[in-house]
Amino acid sequence: MAEIGIRALHKAFDGADVLKGVDLTIEDGEFISLVGPSGCGKSTLLRIIAGLEPQSSGEIWIDGANADGVRPSARNLAMVFQSYALYPHLSVFDNIAVPLRMKRLSALERMPLIGRLMPSRRRAERTIREDVERVAGQLEISPLLKRKPGQLSGGQRQRVAVGRAIVRQPRAFLFDEPLSNLDAKLRVHMRAEIAQLHRQLKTTFIYVTHDQAEAMTMSGRIAVMIGGELIQVGAPAAVYDDPQDIRVAEFIGTPK
Ligand code: ADP
Ligand code: MG
Repeated sequence: MAEIGIRALHKAFDGADVLKGVDLTIEDGEFISLVGPSGCGKSTLLRIIAGLEPQSSGEIWIDGANADGVRPSARNLAMVFQSYALYPHLSVFDNIAVPLRMKRLSALERMPLIGRLMPSRRRAERTIREDVERVAGQLEISPLLKRKPGQLSGGQRQRVAVGRAIVRQPRAFLFDEPLSNLDAKLRVHMRAEIAQLHRQLKTTFIYVTHDQAEAMTMSGRIAVMIGGELIQVGAPAAVYDDPQDIRVAEFIGTPK
């Protein structure tokens, strides 16, 4: 669970301003969508929150602590991308287990030499198996654990990617247009799954999309970004019924 504060955030690439002073507080456990036209800076904002990209100025706060200098893994936020980034040579089970095995390795690395001789490898593997099976059950992909990503449908692959994100119980999820590679019917189905997942996990979800309909149906609040600025933040109906800016009206009112 995490409250995420974004304070006076600026980002320039090669002198071009991409984020122009973004301020936003994302409440613990809320589902907020960040919407806006392609190129407006949505992915850049997510990457800065995740610690994958440094800001030019401004701050990110996670649960009341300034995240400056905190490594991405220590922030414990899960990113889910449109390209599923599954390992093609690994089974579904091993794909979901990747973050658990990485976490275990880094914990071991921090131990003194004696610690390396102590841990029961078998117990660690049993815990990993339990965690992967629990998540697979939650996402209804238990029968697929032995398959390789190449033997899955697009929707199944997306679920494996979500499984890999939830297995280490992150404090928040950052989704970057996770459904944009799927066909229209599957997209609508997966919307419902993601909304359901949020109800189940009750964790903070930040959901980036350029599809305003997707955002409207799933989120408690939407934040409309245009040209590197947040123009309006509010409940979907409020933004739809009462756009505070012609650019918001144009973006929200244009069918995709
Ligand atoms: P969105 O996700 O809303 O489509 P992005 O955050 O990906 O937008 O990009 C915002 C702007 O920043 C675009 O003009 C893009 O070309 C530029 N940009 C993004 N990443 C880089 C980068 N690594 N180097 C230079 N320019 C970048
Ligand atoms: Mg993007």
